[in-house]
Amino acid sequence: MKVTFPIMGNSYIAFKQMLEDLGHEAIVPPMPSARTMTLGTAHSPEFACIPFKILMGTYLEAIEKGAELIITSGGHGPCRAGYYGVLHQKIIEELGYNTKVMVFDSINMGFKEFISNLNYLLNSGKSSWWRLIKVYKAIWDKLMALDEIEILSHQIRPYEIEKGRTSKTYDSCLEVMDQAKTKSQIAEAKEACFGLLNEISQDVSRKPLKIGIVGEIYVQIEPYANLDIQATLGEMGVYSKRGIHLSEWWKETTHQTNNEEEAIKAAKPYLDQMIGGHGILSVGETILHSSHGYDGVIQLAPFSCIPEIVAKGILTQVSRDYGIPVLTIFLDEQTGKAGMETRLEAFIDLLYQRRQKRLEGAVS
Ligand code: SF4
Repeated sequence: MKVTFPIMGNSYIAFKQMLEDLGHEAIVPPMPSARTMTLGTAHSPEFACIPFKILMGTYLEAIEKGAELIITSGGHGPCRAGYYGVLHQKIIEELGYNTKVMVFDSINMGFKEFISNLNYLLNSGKSSWWRLIKVYKAIWDKLMALDEIEILSHQIRPYEIEKGRTSKTYDSCLEVMDQAKTKSQIAEAKEACFGLLNEISQDVSRKPLKIGIVGEIYVQIEPYANLDIQATLGEMGVYSKRGIHLSEWWKETTHQTNNEEEAIKAAKPYLDQMIGGHGILSVGETILHSSHGYDGVIQLAPFSCIPEIVAKGILTQVSRDYGIPVLTIFLDEQTGKAGMETRLEAFIDLLYQRRQKRLEGAVS
């Protein structure tokens, strides 16, 4: 069966292998682009959030490539993510396609449905549970390795001497990782990529600002949706760390992670209930970033995203209480890179000034 999935950062490399190893033809959609956005916007409700529109465009591009089944994730809490699958399916049908959307919700949300979806996937690929266990182990390693390589690239970029070298090396690493299939090949490819990234010439005398990135999961992970904010910050000489990576999300889908628990606990004095999406984590992670010595936090929020709007209101107080500046960037199809860069430059200036004042205060 020709099966596709949403593009979310570099995870397509692991998902493509998983489908192929389970006996399917993986249809990798084109990387999200202006065309994806135009297609998605044209066929989405006007006030849908940007992840919905990009996914809509992605699915239509995958259908053009022959996709018969779309595998996607669900959502929980009072947020529109839970309706994505149903609505995407409806729009696809109204456009005259018979491609099916299969939603993999968290296993905690519906054990029976999760297992029945998996059974369908295995039977239609003439695969087995035994095969799945084997495949899962390799895919898990691959997802973790892809995240670790990306994290290392964000650590190195602010120190790079030749601007753009880290991004080029990172792109080569993705090709290396794509070729690795077995557990041992994946481990070797990861080591090779670490080697390539660590060989980049760096000016280690720099003292980059540290910025935490929080916000809605899709716009945090997918560079097209966030206008490549982490690479942009890195090339401005700033180290950034985001709260969620795909391997974390994968863990979340099967059980709650330690990082998530820690952030929920930190958020508790301000917010003691789930508000959908990753709103509660935006609050908790901002507090954690503050206690870990970060200079500032950037909240990425899809325009009209209720969980992030609620979080933004709370973050104003958190910012005051913890003395950590927070910049909220709302993202929609109108958001342009030049405008975002101007806002980032102003925010970085502010953070440098605060750091300078702190240092002067410490000296005098
Ligand atoms: S978290 Fe926000 S952006 Fe994501 S689906 Fe919910 S409302 Fe939309």
